Amino acid sequence: MLPFETLQEAEVAFGRNLTFAETLWFNYSAQKSDYFLYCHNTIFLFIFYTLLPLPYVIMELMRSQRIDKFKIQPKMTNTLWDMLDCYKRVLKTFVIAVVPLQIISFPVIQMIGIRTSLPLPSGSEIFMQIFAYFVVEDYANYWLHRLLHQKWGYENIHRVHHEYTAPIGFAAPYAHWAEVIILGLASFLGPLLAPGHMITFWLWMIVRQMEAVETHSGYDFPWSPLKYIPFYGGAIFHDYHHYVGGKSQSNFASVFTYCDYIYGTNKGYRYQKEVFEKKREKLN
Ligand SMILES: [Zn+2]
Ligand SMILES: [Zn+2]
Repeated sequence: MLPFETLQEAEVAFGRNLTFAETLWFNYSAQKSDYFLYCHNTIFLFIFYTLLPLPYVIMELMRSQRIDKFKIQPKMTNTLWDMLDCYKRVLKTFVIAVVPLQIISFPVIQMIGIRTSLPLPSGSEIFMQIFAYFVVEDYANYWLHRLLHQKWGYENIHRVHHEYTAPIGFAAPYAHWAEVIILGLASFLGPLLAPGHMITFWLWMIVRQMEAVETHSGYDFPWSPLKYIPFYGGAIFHDYHHYVGGKSQSNFASVFTYCDYIYGTNKGYRYQKEVFEKKREKLN
């Protein structure tokens, strides 16, 4: 809900014309409650949960020698029904964990001061904030994930996510409902420490989802622009964690590689990566 009745009132308050994006935001959000705007996040998550894995589903259905060059575990195949079954189970967790978490977390959003008002943040502010959220989430996720690999946490919660020894895009959010809540808290930590605009919050949740799907895609493309991000783990990094399975004591971080390097939990992976790269050279 905006504190201005009209566009003109907002322009007088700021002493300037509103930008195109600000005018759009004003027209869209002026009559909507903050709670309603916050709930958009649930819809975005549902849309992106559904759409982002689809290119990988198509690739999986069109498997050929050319596509297999990029498949991290080429011996593994998934039928359309396998993938739809995963999606169905993800939706179930979405309804029993993600939706309630979204609904009850609104007071926290209000308390930490995520704003819906004008002016809108600049592009660079959004970028810097989302980057900071990634760093915070990655560090928290590293330790929470490592904790989930302790005997009790693994047997009772985390083993569900590890049912996939060769992950697929739809398996990114596939986890026990308790894990969805535990790791969901890590995603809230960045906005909690550096609250921004609701648009930044929406974008953060969407970009985080994109990253998780890419990481679980099962495909590694040597020409991916993501390779230029310093310390970015990507699909090959997390795929190894799934490949080793429950006994894995390696590659716990969700986004970057440096936590595993600093805490010495990437040794097995370093060796396997070399083996994988030699195999790929032979294929090429
Ligand atoms: Zn794990
Ligand atoms: Zn995973």
